[in-house]
Amino acid sequence: MGPPVTQARDVAASRSAIAEVEIDLAAIRRNVGRLRALVAPARFASVVKANAYGHGLTRVARALARDVDMLCVYRGQEALEIRDAGVTTPLLVLGPVPVREVAQLHAARVAISLWDDGTYRDDVVRVARSSGTPLAIHAKIDTGVTRLGLPPARAAGAIATYLDEAALRIDGVFTHLAAAEELESAFTLGQLERFETALSPLAPALRSRGTLRHAAASAAAMLFPRLRLDLVRVGISTYGIWPSPETRAALAQPPELEPALAWRTELVAVREVPAGTSVGYGCTHHTERPSSIGVLPIGYAEGIPRAVSNRGAVLVGGRRAPIVGRVCMNMTLVDVTGVRGAHAGAPVTLIGADGAESLTTDDWAGWAQTIGYEIVARLPEALPRTFRDES
Ligand SMILES: *Cc1c(COP(=O)(O)O)cnc(C)c1O
Repeated sequence: MGPPVTQARDVAASRSAIAEVEIDLAAIRRNVGRLRALVAPARFASVVKANAYGHGLTRVARALARDVDMLCVYRGQEALEIRDAGVTTPLLVLGPVPVREVAQLHAARVAISLWDDGTYRDDVVRVARSSGTPLAIHAKIDTGVTRLGLPPARAAGAIATYLDEAALRIDGVFTHLAAAEELESAFTLGQLERFETALSPLAPALRSRGTLRHAAASAAAMLFPRLRLDLVRVGISTYGIWPSPETRAALAQPPELEPALAWRTELVAVREVPAGTSVGYGCTHHTERPSSIGVLPIGYAEGIPRAVSNRGAVLVGGRRAPIVGRVCMNMTLVDVTGVRGAHAGAPVTLIGADGAESLTTDDWAGWAQTIGYEIVARLPEALPRTFRDES
């Protein structure tokens, strides 16, 4: 049955990289250009948290540095990496910042989010005073995610203390929406109302300082013109991935969003087996006919969701090869029966095009019953990335 098994042939054609992610920076820039045009005159912040949604933090930040008004990250460390890469664009850390990191972020001209009216605020103010220059902050109000931010009832009081503090410079006030991509417009507009009501006692003071009000991420920026306010914070759509199928369907003229990421590996082995052969852990797949089973050198440790076991597919030789059996930690098995050129060393496409066929992040999200965000955000930072930027 088939050729003899020789390990040398299996690995002979393998390159050193087990898998590779290719990023089209020019596509990301074109997406930003289209989204900017859509939301104008609102300003535009690109969200590059989670390694720029798997696309590579510093390369994406550098590519967008002059195309956006601001870059947003989740952690202070990400902001410092962007500064170390030579990017001078305004930067905002959306997540909580330990007091011990504030001085370094301030020195790097990174704004932090603030939603405290107790000892944390006092500690931050002390750091700001001792630095001799005002610390840039964006005050956060929680209007319905129930996560981070000042409760609306306490917001005006707390923000008034920020306004009174000469060591703080309040560049923005913001909130985050819970259900814009689910088209929950009543809830979304309720959040906007809570935000505006909470801020109304301070509206003249904030306006006179030019403080930016912001609320919308990708879905709301596209769907709700009223929520664009002074600035939008756009992440997923920058990368050519829709926040939800509903968002796209709800738009009369959806902007063109170009996927910017391809994910490729190669077969490290192909096994010829008879009908009735059990494939993989748990014996969840049995071949129905004499079959060729290809082995990919990546598994759930490298970003393939285990949930795609016996569900997903990859492209080999321009054809769909179904995933068979359970996804393993470092390997995945695919049925390449009848696929010409399916030998050890043959290229495999997980996301991207191969001939006339292509697979998208959303295909993987569908098989894994998750969202595109999770598929790209979990692509390991350690995977080698290559970048293209034609502009
Ligand atoms: C992640 C995030 C965004 C961007 O959301 P997308 O849906 O990816 O556009 C905006 N604001 C905050 C606070 C976030 O955490």
